[in-house]
Parts: sequence; structure tokens; C-alpha cells
Amino acid sequence: MTSRNQDLFEQSQQLIPGGVNSPVRAFRSVGGTPVFFKKGLGSRLWDVDGKEYIDYINSWGPMILGHAHPEVVAAVHQAAANSLSFGAPTGLELEMATLINQLIPSMEQVRLNSSGTEATMSAIRTARGFTGRDKIIKFEGCYHGHSDGLLVKAGSGLLTFGEPDSGGVPASIAQHTLTLEYNNTQQLADIFNQMGDEIACVIIEPVVGNMNLILPHMEFLQTLRTLCTRHGAVLIFDEVMTGFRVALGGAQALYGITPDMTTLGKIIGGGLPVGAFGGRKDIMQVLAPLGPVYQAGTLSGNPVAVSAGLTTLKLIQAPGFYDRLAAQTAKLMHGLKQAAQKSGVTFSAQNVGGMFGVYFSDSNPTSFAEMMLTDKKAFNHFFHSMLDAGIYLGPSAFEAGFVSAAHSDADIAETIQAAELAFAAL
Ligand SMILES: *Cc1c(COP(=O)(O)O)cnc(C)c1O
Repeated sequence: MTSRNQDLFEQSQQLIPGGVNSPVRAFRSVGGTPVFFKKGLGSRLWDVDGKEYIDYINSWGPMILGHAHPEVVAAVHQAAANSLSFGAPTGLELEMATLINQLIPSMEQVRLNSSGTEATMSAIRTARGFTGRDKIIKFEGCYHGHSDGLLVKAGSGLLTFGEPDSGGVPASIAQHTLTLEYNNTQQLADIFNQMGDEIACVIIEPVVGNMNLILPHMEFLQTLRTLCTRHGAVLIFDEVMTGFRVALGGAQALYGITPDMTTLGKIIGGGLPVGAFGGRKDIMQVLAPLGPVYQAGTLSGNPVAVSAGLTTLKLIQAPGFYDRLAAQTAKLMHGLKQAAQKSGVTFSAQNVGGMFGVYFSDSNPTSFAEMMLTDKKAFNHFFHSMLDAGIYLGPSAFEAGFVSAAHSDADIAETIQAAELAFAAL
């Protein structure tokens, strides 16, 4: 029996490389046929064959209110009726900048664009323009979008700069990027000792959500802040995923560490394409038209996208929103751990705000190297059992999971029940 899903995937592969418009969607890591969707409502999704799922990807974070939230949809309708785009300023952008500044005060000035990739790329250019330095530091396992200078892996030695981590990236660009180990405070201190005054910026996911979930050690983040300040390097928190996800004020509010610049995406668009970068006013003033650093976008601050984002940002400020979100996520993790224990499966899990990580490992990993040691085969079996049971998890052992405000107790209970069977079948 062939399904509509399979048909669509086969046809898509003829016209779209790999059949998908972003690689993880192709299910290469877990194997099998990706699910093609046609509808979402609240915590639920329906695929093109009519099968129903509970969604724990939530478009990789943006759908924090659940799918097709009526107020977000109404805001989009209203904005669309007044034209889809002007390529000129609107009051909505000021409203958005005001709200971002209120929720994340370190973003004294902010500029909108259309994706997380654009936000990080522009933040780095701004930091380089501000400092007059070329070198940047990132961390292994963090993802900051697909711009050339960020698709870089560590070189062979500690002090060697990076090598391209993707075809098509010139070595001459990768060589300006140094990739260090996450949570390795000593290594960070050594590098700053050697060349701190040549570093334009350090970009980091303050809570990592792109090698599954990894939490920062407090001492690591504090040392990072101290070293950047001492050496005049710009500290960029890439909160494209963690912004409005781990807490209302992002990871910087949760950990009490103030970066010089912040990048946002995902939730600030409420499911439409919006990115943002901002930070200290003295840094942001180097941007054109005020200063020499060029950055632009035809659809930047698009009124329809910004309306969806604004409405989302207003609704997540409801009293108790994050307490409930974190409680539901914790309930899910607790249930999964108990279910694994019943079947004697080596398993561990953690959560922060509405974000979670599950690992086939006896403890929660703290670095990329530790993450690589988790049992990928066990995850892949688990993933497919859950998918069959109508539970949609990220299709890779190296992706985090997301809970939305629409996830009910019944959703959580149904998920745990499915997991009991999935663990038992391992
Ligand atoms: C998703 C993500 C990006 C890239 O955002 P896009 O909108 O996919 O370009 C950058 N940084 C982090 C931390 C992300 O999670």
C-alpha cells in the first residue's frame, strides 16, 4: 500500500534536492519517509493521509502557543488586508522594538530581518565593524544558521582556526572562526590568554538546542562574560531558539548574564519569518545609515510577519504562562523517565522552560563529545515506535524537543503511554 505521504516524497525528490527545503526534514538520521502535513491545531497535527499526531517539534520552536492560535491568525488576517508589504517603515516595527526592549533590556536597539541566519550573520558583521577585528569564536555543537563563517568545525590543534564544515565554504573564510568545546572553561581562558585582543566576538547558544539540549555550566557563562569584557570582545547570545522559550526574558534572564548583543528568531515571528539582532546602543550605532556597517532587507519588518510575532509576544506575557509551560514539560520528562525505568532502558532527560532533551544515555550530556556517545540506534527505534503511535518528535537523536502552551494533561498522558510501549519494544 502506498500512502499519499510516500507519493509526495517520491515526487518531491524529483524537483527539490532530497525532497525537502531544509535537510533535517528528510529523516536521513532516523530513516523512513518524512511526514507531509496539511493541518495543525493547538498541540495536534494531521498529515496528508489523515493521521493525527501530538507535535513536539512545534516548527522547531516558533509555535509556542500551539498551531493556528485564533488571535495570531486574526492578527495576520487583519495585517494582510492592509497590504502584505510596503518596503517602508510602519508603526508595527516600533511596537515590536519596544516590546523586545522591554522583555530583553540588553537589546537597547534592535533591527528586524527575516530569519535567524540573517540575524546571526548581521550581528557578527556589526561586532566586527565595531571592534575592527576579524576573528570570531563559536562552540562545537552550537548552530547559528547557515552563513559561511559559521559552518566551520575545529581545526586540528587548539590554536588553529577552523576548517569548512560544509562544501562551498572557502577555507579563507573558515580560517577566521575558532571553534571551542562547550562548557570547557579552561580552554576558553587559554584562548583568551593567547589572542583575546584579536577576537571580535564570541557567539554562543546560552542554552544549546541544536545538538539536542545541553545546559551551560554557570561558571562557564560567567567566565565567558568576564573574558569578553576584559578583552573588548563582543559577547553575542544567539537566542534564536531560547528567546521566549526557556523563560520570558530568554536564557540571559534565566542565568542572569547580560550579553552585548542578542539574536532572535523563531518565536518572535510566531510561525512567520522574523529575525532580530540588537544590543548595546554604542555597538548598534555602527549600522548603516548611521555608520559604516551595511545591512538591509527588502522584506525586513514585514507587517504581516511582525503582526504574528507581536501577537505571540503579547500572549506569552499572560501571568503564569512560563510556570505552566515548564510544569507541563517537566511532567512529560518525569513520565518518560519512569516509563524507561519500567523497561530497564538506559535513558535520561531534562528540560528548561518549554524545551526538553531526551537521551539514550545514563546521564545528561554536557558537551558535543558526550552527546555523540548516546545510543543513536535506540533513539531511532524509539522515534519510529512513537511516530507510529502518533507522537511527532524531532527526527534525530541530536535535536531538542518543544512543548507548547496548548499541550494538555491528556496530551502528556497519551505521550507517556505511547512511550511505555516504545521502551518495552526496544
Ligand atoms: C534556528 C536557529 C538559527 C537559524 O535560524 P533560521 O531562521 O533557521 O535561519 C540560528 N541560531 C539558532 C540558535 C537556531 O536555533
